[in-house]
Amino acid sequence: MSVQERYRSVAQSVASVAEEQGRDPQDVRVVAVSKTVGLDAVAAAAEAGARDFGENRPDELMVKADRFPELRWHFIGNIQSRRIRDIVGRATLIHSLFEERHAQKIGAVAQDYGLVQDVLIEVNVSGEESKSGIRPAEAQGLLEFCETLPALRVRGLMTMAPQGDIQAQIDSFTGLAALSEALRATLPPQRAAEFTELSMGMSEDWPIAIAHGATMVRIGRAIFSEDFTE
Ligand SMILES: *Cc1c(COP(=O)(O)O)cnc(C)c1O
Repeated sequence: MSVQERYRSVAQSVASVAEEQGRDPQDVRVVAVSKTVGLDAVAAAAEAGARDFGENRPDELMVKADRFPELRWHFIGNIQSRRIRDIVGRATLIHSLFEERHAQKIGAVAQDYGLVQDVLIEVNVSGEESKSGIRPAEAQGLLEFCETLPALRVRGLMTMAPQGDIQAQIDSFTGLAALSEALRATLPPQRAAEFTELSMGMSEDWPIAIAHGATMVRIGRAIFSEDFTE
């Protein structure tokens, strides 16, 4: 299958799983994670209808976002202070914020650029040491800090579930959804209405994530890899 065919097939499956779960398919966005592929594959996926793309390295984000400014670019990787100026504004949404010092700097750079940067707080729900993200108990403190920064807008939460363990995936996704509800309840109504995104689910576990409320699924291999089979 070509990238076009794989993207169409994934987008269709995502929409039908959303419907089966009683969700509006419009409420579940596919972020095509293009971190391992080049400009040609991005163009192919875009031709098949992809509009949201995810990158985990600033250099790749810069090349691709500058080449395809009409697409929406999501930053899903490790944030380094010295690269924040390259990410802010290029990324429509930063999914991987979990440190106060990075929030501070993103807020300052966004203010400097004259824009408001949308971000998600990455939460390590499973507690695996290999995973990045803030501990669930500390998320409220970080959210409160972010709320003091006028050029930073937290739109919701992101997590990565342990791979290869369905029960652990269910626990991660239900945990993130419950935390999101609890945090939303602490926000004033106008901000609560903007705090709606749950970025969870990847090639192996996105159907489970949609069943538990994902509004964005980040799918790489199922779209871009020849070898990936469900
Ligand atoms: C690579 C990556 C993905 C996509 O993973 P696949 O298994 O290829 O779908 C999603 N989220 C993050 C944060 C990633 O780094």
